[in-house]
Amino acid sequence: ATPTSIMAGSGRAAEMGILFKGGEYLESTQSIDTVVLDKTGTITNGKPILTDVIFTDEWDEDSFLSLVGTTERNSEHPLAEAIVAGSIEKGYKLGRPEEFETIPGYGVRALIHGKEILVGTRRLMNQHHIAFQEADERTMSNLESLGKTVMIVAVESKYAGLIAVADTVKSTSLEAIRRLKELHLEVIMVTGDNQRTAQAIADQIGIDRVMAEVLPAGKADVVKELQESGRKVAMVGDGMNDAPALVTAEVGMAIGTGTDVAMEAADITLIRGDLGSVADAMMLSRKTMVNIK
Ligand code: ADP
Ligand code: MG
Repeated sequence: ATPTSIMAGSGRAAEMGILFKGGEYLESTQSIDTVVLDKTGTITNGKPILTDVIFTDEWDEDSFLSLVGTTERNSEHPLAEAIVAGSIEKGYKLGRPEEFETIPGYGVRALIHGKEILVGTRRLMNQHHIAFQEADERTMSNLESLGKTVMIVAVESKYAGLIAVADTVKSTSLEAIRRLKELHLEVIMVTGDNQRTAQAIADQIGIDRVMAEVLPAGKADVVKELQESGRKVAMVGDGMNDAPALVTAEVGMAIGTGTDVAMEAADITLIRGDLGSVADAMMLSRKTMVNIK
């Protein structure tokens, strides 16, 4: 690779909003055959909105949502922000929990007026031996099939209800994924979200392979396993929990609207939040390398 053509390639890329941290990544990008995409904030806009509030007979919307909103107030997760914003919008007053704890990949736990509140995944509820009726599971699955993320709420070890939020797919994601497939890249979605929700989103944009319910530390393992099977992997993400996977991949690409941690871990920053930039980067690196040979 001649330094001049690499520089020209990097310059062209920069004009397109694709910042390579070094010329060597222009070379490594060309060898990529697999693109792993984070879901929330990468494929989707990452700004979920509260859509469904379901509670048992012992509750009314005010007391239920105030409690869940108060629980989520100290969490910085986008899901929490959606719940808090939705509760405030409905006019409910939120308090401060006496205790609060994040359980990464599972949910949150809080103590409010001496009562223990859990909000999170099925796995979190299983761990705490919280009984969950078949009818509730059906309600939850139906919402997930619509691409919504559903969280279970338990109060004092008893099932209390469900909270669903919906995120929207970026308007550019469908076309971007079509282009990546046209470039003969395998596209894989990786997410901490549940299988059904992830599949519903993947179906909307033509992604055939989904790895869901991956714990925060697990995304890097997903990349490693693909590499061990001979793949050359580009990882695309925006979140703090994407950083280890961005470092592990042959090429890490961070969404410019995402967290600083992701951008620091990545080899390439995509200034525009548009996944079309991933396809642009691939095409540009292939062209640059062909010119060199
Ligand atoms: P992702 O960033 O892909 O959503 P996470 O590992 O952060 O993945 O979360 C995985 C799952 O854990 C979420 O889909 C949700 O069900 C649950 N969860 C995470 N954070 C919270 C929270 N603050 N409140 C309730 N549930 C949560
Ligand atoms: Mg994300």
